[in-house]
Amino acid sequence: MNLSLSPADVAFRESIRTEIAALVPADIKARVDNLQHLRKEDFLRWQAILDERGWAAPAWPAEYGGPGWSPMQRVIFEEACFLAGAPRQIPHVNMIGPVLQTFGTPEQKRRYLPDIPTLRDWWCQGYSEPSSGSDLASLRTRAVRQGDHYVVNGQKIWTTWAHWANYMFCLVRTSDQGRPQEGITFLLMEMDTPGITVRPIHSLDGAHDVNEVFLEDVVVPVENVVLAENQGWTVAKFLLNAERTEIAGLGQAKRLLQFATRLAERLAAEGVAASRRNVFENTLTRIRIDLKAHEWTLMRVIAATENDPRAPSASVLKLCGTDLLERLSTLLMDMGGPAGLAYDPSSRGGETDETPPYGHVLNGTAATYLEFRKSGLVGGTTEIQKNLIYRETVGQWGTR
Ligand SMILES: Cc1cc2nc3c(=O)[nH]c(=O)nc-3n(C[C@H](O)[C@H](O)[C@H](O)COP(=O)(O)OP(=O)(O)OC[C@H]3O[C@@H](n4cnc5c(N)ncnc54)[C@H](O)[C@@H]3O)c2cc1C
Repeated sequence: MNLSLSPADVAFRESIRTEIAALVPADIKARVDNLQHLRKEDFLRWQAILDERGWAAPAWPAEYGGPGWSPMQRVIFEEACFLAGAPRQIPHVNMIGPVLQTFGTPEQKRRYLPDIPTLRDWWCQGYSEPSSGSDLASLRTRAVRQGDHYVVNGQKIWTTWAHWANYMFCLVRTSDQGRPQEGITFLLMEMDTPGITVRPIHSLDGAHDVNEVFLEDVVVPVENVVLAENQGWTVAKFLLNAERTEIAGLGQAKRLLQFATRLAERLAAEGVAASRRNVFENTLTRIRIDLKAHEWTLMRVIAATENDPRAPSASVLKLCGTDLLERLSTLLMDMGGPAGLAYDPSSRGGETDETPPYGHVLNGTAATYLEFRKSGLVGGTTEIQKNLIYRETVGQWGTR
């Protein structure tokens, strides 16, 4: 297995880094560099810039308007964006896009695909429910067919950016027959349909990203089913497995490492005692080594062929990426010391451009610490990933 970049990939990395660095608007870069939250307009503006170059949906194949990049080129692109202070990629582009490309009807493809990369349509993901997160198949939001439409009742929760979205792809129960997975349907709905109510949930850092979505007698046309009634679990699993490299969090971890390195330099310049600096500089070095190992694991996943079933799985990437993000965000808080405790959510959330009295940098450390407590939950919890790794390795290859 060759894990080094090919000369072509090296050349691609050099040119894409230069181009991306020149493209990121200064105000967006400043917010990203200060670890502030971005506004919807920031994402729209950046996505329009990428769209002009055909890079708005980096994982899409050329036949659907994507750049047709290899997995390695996508990782290089993502890293270039993170290092240049560009906004993160909007995950839904790589969720609903590939789903419709694979399972959508010609009419669904024609209607929805063009406006996904540009974010003219902003999608949210309605999977989780109050009692159905890890055990997703137990979901209870019900869709009852009445002629040419369904009537949907239930509740979704933790729905990221539902308040920005004009569409939601969601899982609904259409049958109680057989295993719970066999009665689930994948449905598309417009967020302004009567009966849909979005309520904010404010997370630990004071930000409003996630929501509750209430569905009360929501009428959805039958043509909004993807694949077929009661076949939604197939679509749901495809979506969860679709982008194994994206959940690695490599670019995000590199950006936080960059931030931590700058902060360490600043603290040294400000004369913080070497005895205190040694503590976090040791941690920083350990994280740097583990991040390198994580990067190599990701390369192994990318390089793995189908006849190498022992290749590390998406769950390993998720677990290691989560661990790094949690450790990095904790380290930032430690580096801030007592000053890192002060925190102004309104500055971080972009409601005000005022610099907090103790500066954006330390505001970012506290906020990032609070924000990254979520990483062991998002996209499947740490414990669930460990169960999956057990099943894929020990469970498959022998007994303990
Ligand atoms: C910031 C954020 C954004 C999110 N965005 C979205 C979104 O856009 N759309 C969406 O649909 N969902 C979203 N989610 C929901 C996310 O997918 C769920 O939080 C996650 O699947 C866990 O489900 P839960 O919260 O119900 O926890 P639970 O499943 O109730 O788990 C609670 C605890 O029990 C443990 N546990 C559960 N089952 C097992 C088991 N079998 N073995 C061992 N331990 C177990 C878990 O690991 C966890 O520690 C988001 C969550 C967060 C925090």
